[in-house]
Amino acid sequence: MQPNLSGQYVVGVDVGGTNSRAAVFTLDGKRLGEGREPTFAERGPSVVVEQVSRAIEAALTDAGVRAEDVAGAGIGMPGRITPEGVVLWSPNFPDIEGVPLLSLIQERTGVPIRMENDVNIAALGEFTFGAGRDVQSLVMLTLGTGIGGGIVLNGQVWSGANAGGAEIGHMVVNPGGRQCGCGNHGCLEAMAQRDAIVERAVLKFQSGRPSALAEAVEYQADRITPALIAEFAGKGDQVCLETMAETGHWVGIGVANMINILNPEMVIIGGGISQAGPILWEPLMRGVRSYAIHESFQVCRVVPAELGDDAGIMGGVAMILKALGKC
Ligand SMILES: [Zn+2]
Repeated sequence: MQPNLSGQYVVGVDVGGTNSRAAVFTLDGKRLGEGREPTFAERGPSVVVEQVSRAIEAALTDAGVRAEDVAGAGIGMPGRITPEGVVLWSPNFPDIEGVPLLSLIQERTGVPIRMENDVNIAALGEFTFGAGRDVQSLVMLTLGTGIGGGIVLNGQVWSGANAGGAEIGHMVVNPGGRQCGCGNHGCLEAMAQRDAIVERAVLKFQSGRPSALAEAVEYQADRITPALIAEFAGKGDQVCLETMAETGHWVGIGVANMINILNPEMVIIGGGISQAGPILWEPLMRGVRSYAIHESFQVCRVVPAELGDDAGIMGGVAMILKALGKC
C-alpha cells in the first residue's frame, strides 16, 4: 500500500461494472499508455481481480513501463471501499463483500495499490487536474444511472467514518416522492437519475400533451433517453423543456443543501446530462439560488465537470501523487 518511492510512473485505474480502464503517466503528468479490459463483474471477485490486473498490465505494456518502476496505482470503483482496500459493498459486483481487492491486485501485478470509491476519486481528479484545480474545498455530483457524490475538504477526500461518506444521491429532497433503489422515497437520485428523467417525459406525453420527441420515437417509451430529451428540449419541445427544468430543480435543491452544510468554494456537476447547457443549468441555478444561504451561495461556483470519463483515472493518479507528497 505504501508507494514505491523510487518509482517514476503512476497508474490511474477506473473500474466499472462493464469495463476497467487504466492509464500510465510520468510523475509530471505526461500520459504514456492505456489499457482497457472488460471487468466481467458478474463472474465474481477472482475474475474481477484478473481483469483489473490485465488492464493495468496492458497499460504498462502500451507505455513500455515495467511494474517495478511504478510508484503506485490508484483505483476507483463503485461502492464502499475501506482505506485498506476491502470492498464492503458494491452495486453490480456480486459476492464482492469483504473481498480485499487491493491486496489481491497488488499481489497479482506487483504494483503498490491504493483504492477509493469511484466518485470520491473523481472529485479528487477534478480537484487536482480539472475544474477545481484552484480551490481548496469542493463537492462533486455525477448525474447518470445513479447519482454519486464526492467531497474534498482542504485537499482531503472525505470518505466518512466507515467509507459511506458523500452519498449525496441519497439526500432526501422530496419526502414521499419517487422510490429510490436504496428503499427510501424522494432521494435526489430517485428524483433526478436517468430513469426518473425518462419517466417524467413519458408521463407528460402519455397524458396527451403534444411532443416532437414522442412523435420521433413513435410513442415508444423505451426508446427515450435523457440525451434525446435534452436534444428535443434544445429544439423547443415543451414537454422536454419542462422535464429538464424539473430535473434541474431537484438537482438545484440538492446542491443548495450541500452549499448550506459545507460552504464549499465549488460544486462540480458531472455525468453526460450535465453537458446539456442552459436548458438544465438555468433551472438548476434558480433552485440553488432559492434554497442556498445567500452568503454561502455568493462564494460558491457551481460548474460542469471538465475531465469527463477521465476524472476517475486522473483521481487515481492524484491519489498516488498525494501519497508521494507531490501534489
Ligand atoms: Zn436513496
